[in-house]
Amino acid sequence: MGMQINLAKSAGFCFGVKRAIDLALKTAGKGGRVYMLGDIVHNEDVISKIQKAGIKKIKALSAGRDKILILRAHGTCIQTLRRARHLGYTVVDATCPMVKEIHRIAKEMEKEGRRVIIIGDKKHDEVHGISGQLKKSAVVIDSIGSFPLNRMKKIKKAAVVVQSTQDTEKVLEIVAALKRLIPELRFYNTVCRPTRIKQEEIRRMPLENDLMIIIGSKTSANTKRLYEISRSLNKRSYRVQSKKDITPDWFRGVKTVGVTAGASTPDSTIQEIVRCLRNKAGRP
Ligand code: SF4
Repeated sequence: MGMQINLAKSAGFCFGVKRAIDLALKTAGKGGRVYMLGDIVHNEDVISKIQKAGIKKIKALSAGRDKILILRAHGTCIQTLRRARHLGYTVVDATCPMVKEIHRIAKEMEKEGRRVIIIGDKKHDEVHGISGQLKKSAVVIDSIGSFPLNRMKKIKKAAVVVQSTQDTEKVLEIVAALKRLIPELRFYNTVCRPTRIKQEEIRRMPLENDLMIIIGSKTSANTKRLYEISRSLNKRSYRVQSKKDITPDWFRGVKTVGVTAGASTPDSTIQEIVRCLRNKAGRP
């Protein structure tokens, strides 16, 4: 009997990234000079597709007359948006609606007089974008280890929002610690639904399959995270970037293979690898 290949429902692009790429390609298709601040996702194939479509990556804004600027799925701070408009760019906002919802909550909480706390990666664009919606800078907590305990004790009234891709278990641990310190704390679990599904699958699939394949670029942090969780649950977990990385030896005695992919991996790469695995499994 051949191997069974089980592809995760959440493998690859999330809804927000897919939407942003489609919007970028559609905008480029209409002609004009189209720009993007930084990379849309951490994946070489996607970046090359975007570049071939004529979209240029820039590191900083300059004169923007007759130029279109696409805002990425992770969103941006109000100052950057204002500056882009002031410089003359036509702005196409591809910010994920779920990130926009986090912006809305953060602003509303600040209006209520609460200090906004963001649980997320200090260096991530999404966190800068959330913090950049506020008048007063947000407190950013990325891990319980770097928890600024003394600073927290002074805060009487606060609200917590979460970077959309954070690990829910880690978030709940931090919120429990905050609740002991801040008398009036409101918590909004803004980890998005696609991320929750991804997390649920990566905690279940390595236990249900003999072997796990995690597809994604070496530069993708979320692919690395998926791989690490998978490996902690099933030693036969492998991270691959293309079908060339697959080694036949891995499949000795294997009956079921679970396949997932980071949020920046395009569908074409996933399908190519699944086809390669099906061939190994002796299926059409
Ligand atoms: S909020 Fe979720 S769906 Fe939207 S871009 Fe981020 S990870 Fe993707």
